[in-house]
Amino acid sequence: MAAKRIFTAAMATETNTFSPIAIDRRAFEESFYAAPGAHPETATLCTAPIPVGRRFCAAEGWELIEGSAAWADPAGLVSGPAHVGLRDEILDQLRAALPVDAVVLGLHGAMVAQGCDDPEGDLLARVREIVGPEVLVCAELDPHSHLTAKRVAAADFFVVFKEFPHTDFVDRAEDLWRIVVDTLHGRVRPVMSTYDCRMIDIFPTSRQPMRGFVDRMMRIEAEDARVLSLSAIHGFMAGDVPEMGTKMIAVTDGDAALGAELAERLGQELFANRGRHMMPVLSGEEAVAQAMAAEVFPVVIADIWDNPGGGTAGDATVVLKALMARGATGVAVGTIWDPIAVGLCTAAGVGGVMPLRFGAKSAPDTGEPVDALVRVEAVEPEAAMVFGESVVPFGPAALIALLDATGQDTGVQVILNTVRAQSYDPSLFTAMGIDPTAQKILVLKSTNHFYAAFAPIAAKILYCSAGKPYPNDPATNPYRFVRPDIWPRVADPFATGA
Ligand SMILES: [Zn+2]
Repeated sequence: MAAKRIFTAAMATETNTFSPIAIDRRAFEESFYAAPGAHPETATLCTAPIPVGRRFCAAEGWELIEGSAAWADPAGLVSGPAHVGLRDEILDQLRAALPVDAVVLGLHGAMVAQGCDDPEGDLLARVREIVGPEVLVCAELDPHSHLTAKRVAAADFFVVFKEFPHTDFVDRAEDLWRIVVDTLHGRVRPVMSTYDCRMIDIFPTSRQPMRGFVDRMMRIEAEDARVLSLSAIHGFMAGDVPEMGTKMIAVTDGDAALGAELAERLGQELFANRGRHMMPVLSGEEAVAQAMAAEVFPVVIADIWDNPGGGTAGDATVVLKALMARGATGVAVGTIWDPIAVGLCTAAGVGGVMPLRFGAKSAPDTGEPVDALVRVEAVEPEAAMVFGESVVPFGPAALIALLDATGQDTGVQVILNTVRAQSYDPSLFTAMGIDPTAQKILVLKSTNHFYAAFAPIAAKILYCSAGKPYPNDPATNPYRFVRPDIWPRVADPFATGA
């Protein structure tokens, strides 16, 4: 068979439409941007189809034509010029690559731009228009995305990360490429079926019932050759767009009826467990009290809603203030976003002692700024942590020790950062010279991605809901565009016949 030509590119971010942090082209370039051919060998979450595609195409002797890869850390709306610029850059690269046998994209699936509530659907529809109906078009998605009808119509199939924390982005990129290779060899004919669960929830796979659900999806894939891939779109409740919500995807080998039946059966299972997926959550005060009463360390307090990975600034001080008020010691906070304070600490230099105001500047319900005498312990212009196989920058960053009025250490250290990043991994602390295992209490900004890397070193993990920096209650979030007839906005959307 003639060598195949396949085009690949990535365009990804996760947009919290309630976030004040606007995203422009520079934000993509600061988070992750690779020009055609310049993507590193290491996979980076939503761009995994590119490095994984190199391996698959090399093994087949096929030609992989790489377009741009861009990822911006989750935040607010993407500017019109940034969105259109990236989109047209990739479409121009695709036109120049023609003819191709397949287009394999890395998308997140929850981007919202000024003037466009479905940039991925828009991109896929334009790709389809360029390549025509016969060329295979597919993408890897993050489950925290919106599965719009426009996307489903434009693409042949999607493969979605199954795990939350997303530890499987490389595995799922391999699934995506296996199906591409089998399709181009004529061995399978992927058909995508979807089911709308009419709900929105949070689905950590580190606990039941979602752990069992993911294991069952994988068992069905392994045991039934007609099933090429199963995915749950969790949905992303901070995206105020009409098609926000939980959906199921079944990709079968030409068996749409089987796919529809599977998607509905699995989707109804998610619906039946609505409200039971989320981990138990403590208030800030409860979490601090439990952490201070612990006898084995370190205790991790996850400030789950001030998660830059969900588009917040990551500068809430509610938990830190509660710890300070109770006189907690052995505390390390990673991180509080405050570029201005980092600039001041950098100017003061390591060893510098100064009064500093930091945190809680981005939005209401993030607490009050902290005013303290501090000593600058470390300054790292290019601080970074690891996440699986990825490297996640969060610097320039400064580590400060909080002092009391007499200049004595209070036993509380805080990492201030410039590039917003959620707390993925203990290397966040070691990068700043802190041994996380030697602390009593570690405060993190992450909903659940931290879990895989912190669980092995943590004596205890406390999920904490403090303040409301994130629209975390879909029953009461001030949506303007989300459809009203999904749970929990209504008790049972299926019963209403709506
Ligand atoms: Zn996600």
